[in-house]
Amino acid sequence: MTAIAPATPRVIYQRPERLTDVSTRYCPGCGHGIVHRLVAEVLEDLGVDGRTIAVAPVGCSVFAYEYLAYDWCEAPHGRAPAVATGIRRVRPDAFVLTYQGDGDLAAIGTGEIVHAAARGELITAIFVNNGIYGMTGGQMAPTTLVGQRTTSSPTGRDVRTAGYPVPMTEMLAVLPGVAFAARGSVADPSSIGKTKALIRKACEAQIRGAGFALVEVLSNCPVGWGMTAQESMRHLKEVVVQTYPLGVLVDRMEPARPKSAKED
Ligand code: SF4
Repeated sequence: MTAIAPATPRVIYQRPERLTDVSTRYCPGCGHGIVHRLVAEVLEDLGVDGRTIAVAPVGCSVFAYEYLAYDWCEAPHGRAPAVATGIRRVRPDAFVLTYQGDGDLAAIGTGEIVHAAARGELITAIFVNNGIYGMTGGQMAPTTLVGQRTTSSPTGRDVRTAGYPVPMTEMLAVLPGVAFAARGSVADPSSIGKTKALIRKACEAQIRGAGFALVEVLSNCPVGWGMTAQESMRHLKEVVVQTYPLGVLVDRMEPARPKSAKED
């Protein structure tokens, strides 16, 4: 009888060099880890990981600097775009990335993101929207869906007292300084692949000097939503996208340049 040779182990995933091999503090099933992986893969593919300076938020991803091995600067709550502006201006050779959640970017940091986008700062913003304040106990955020139950809206978000969810990416997309704005999701493998392509485009916008770029990534918070990881992914795919549709909102990738007298 012929002996069957043992199968050669197959490499099924090559960890990007800058994605550290440590256990995260994220809850089981949380989408932040997926977004970290996408960022690490894209920056490695584009060859900018060695000159990246990233700005960390306050929130569940406050320890992002432990999971992605770039040079990091920690910003006060909501101020990542302002800190990134300073870094980009004194280090024009650097690739500058911000990573923020919705509590950070869409609440206390609304002013900073709007004005960085309006100025067309050459930074790439990753905005992870899970519609809740995860780290502080699951309170209502500006992005919380109408009717969604949170610890501070136990009967569901009521528009009569709490208003409507804030579509940050649509708001920012109308600003002329924004070269690229899009919304992706981590709900399933297909969405994750598309989100990676959006992150790549947002990074290319900075490399080409086209302007400010932002990718909103719809993510889950199984703990804050009171769901299992599987339920939360289904909810993301079937419910959350009705308020936050996926896709590219604006793509102005050509770098702005002064017109010559002949073109006027
Ligand atoms: S609280 Fe929510 S967003 Fe924060 S780590 Fe846990 S699952 Fe993720």
